[in-house]
Amino acid sequence: MQFDLRQLGRKGSGTIRDEHVDRTFQPSEFPASVVEDEEYKVVGPVHLVMDIHKDGEAYRVTGRVETRLQLECGRCLEAFEIPVDSPFELRYVPAPVAAGDPGSVEAEREVTEDDLTTSYYKEDSIDLGELMHEQFVLALPMKPLCSDACRGLCVHCGTNLNKSTCDCAPRWTDPRLAALEGLLKTNKE
Ligand SMILES: [Zn+2]
Ligand SMILES: [Zn+2]
Repeated sequence: MQFDLRQLGRKGSGTIRDEHVDRTFQPSEFPASVVEDEEYKVVGPVHLVMDIHKDGEAYRVTGRVETRLQLECGRCLEAFEIPVDSPFELRYVPAPVAAGDPGSVEAEREVTEDDLTTSYYKEDSIDLGELMHEQFVLALPMKPLCSDACRGLCVHCGTNLNKSTCDCAPRWTDPRLAALEGLLKTNKE
């Protein structure tokens, strides 16, 4: 999933060059190593549209990525899907080389130039897999819930309370509460 930036150089002879990218990736194209350790799974085709604008050594990338991600509910642990349609605006500068090299100073200065999120490109190519992964992570909810009304799992028996009920709820199993319950009973008698 690399985008070869040298493609831009082959077009026209001006100093500023633009490239329009419109690609669709299948969920299977997302490497297992990226998918497994993360809290999401790509479950729909990924549509990536972007414009790359060359500006000296830097590239300004404006676009949008659309797909569906599968997450695990933080309360009931069931899988659910969310749509993603994220616009982004990034700036790519050459990856900094070893410290002490004047090139790295140059790259650092460029980073602070504006508010755009800065990424690095290596060997004349942009890693589209990484770009999309970053957008997906940004699109993830702080607390993934299958629904705001999700009732979660019973803390005692693990029953998914969205699907069925259990007998634990009315029972007071916390020892401190049980003692209190005992007190209440005594009072009633
Ligand atoms: Zn849930
Ligand atoms: Zn229960």
